[in-house]
Amino acid sequence: MHMLSDELKALGAITYYGEEKVLQGVLKGNVPGEPLAFMAHVDTADDVPGNGVRPVVHRNYDGKDIVLDGVVIRTDENPDLVKYAGGTVITSDGTTLLGADDKAGVAVIMEMLSALSSDPSIPHPDIEVYFTPDEETGHSLDRFPYDRMKATVCYTVDGTEEGVIDTGCFNASSAVIRIKGMAVHPGSAKGVMRNAVQAASYIAQSLPASESPEATDGLEGFISVMDMKGSVDHAEMSLILRDFNMKGLERREEMVRTIVRSAESIYRVTVTFDIERSYCNFSEVTSSHPYALERLRAAARSIALDITENMVRGGTDGAHLSTHSIASPDIFTGGHNLHSVTEWVALEAMERSLELVLAIARGSR
Ligand SMILES: [Zn+2]
Repeated sequence: MHMLSDELKALGAITYYGEEKVLQGVLKGNVPGEPLAFMAHVDTADDVPGNGVRPVVHRNYDGKDIVLDGVVIRTDENPDLVKYAGGTVITSDGTTLLGADDKAGVAVIMEMLSALSSDPSIPHPDIEVYFTPDEETGHSLDRFPYDRMKATVCYTVDGTEEGVIDTGCFNASSAVIRIKGMAVHPGSAKGVMRNAVQAASYIAQSLPASESPEATDGLEGFISVMDMKGSVDHAEMSLILRDFNMKGLERREEMVRTIVRSAESIYRVTVTFDIERSYCNFSEVTSSHPYALERLRAAARSIALDITENMVRGGTDGAHLSTHSIASPDIFTGGHNLHSVTEWVALEAMERSLELVLAIARGSR
């Protein structure tokens, strides 16, 4: 963050890095107009190792499978890859993440600022940029310098496939279920033992398989056990619930309550549980600021970029901003296979992302 802060200052931006640990930079505008914001996250996922990344740059990529240390990025599993034959594809060495999620977004935003500050003839309003520290844990925006933010539109640059703009996301809840049983000697357990881990297993098995992440896609929601451990005496499990529609999410939350109640009566265990909302679909807030997407669409037209508007099957930092009525469509970075050792990004897609954010920033309102 301190390096980024120094780079921002070198580009002529005013920076602020307060106790929220979110780095803010403001590049003063040279035309009147409402300020615009752009945001990316500096942290990377921890599903696979993310330290000691050794990026491999495949220049003049031959359009074939990419063989790395221990893994192969296969073109039949990555149909987008062949689009970049002849271009430049960047991967890790196969043992770590690449970290394009979301270093690619950080790079795009910094390049945009660099282009604006080096060419004062490009008209633009005040540009605010935000670099956040904890997107992957979902806690990035628990603290955010909202009081310093003047923009009501903040484009997140944290998407994936070239041309795809996320205009909404899941509504999300998580549930933590704690089960208290009673352990006794199995030989004299009849009518006495209360098996917590059996009750947990019953709850897991009672979730409809047809509503699992493995069985759903597109605009379908899901419910899934993410973690479960226990013994006869006690067990604990965590669930995630997702739905684009709030009513659908509420139905799944009610399903958890019903299944928990039946586990209690069948296994005579005591269950305590919390269901917590994690983030909400930001599509409503996006459409309540039509200007956000109109400016983006006009910018895409001006650079002859075909865009696809998409609902992301996950959450974004923008979902958290929407709780403060800030519209936050999510722009592609060109990164693919995020959170994986096969993560890759095409330089040409990053350049398109840069062209798009520059076109959005350019002009006044
Ligand atoms: Zn990300």
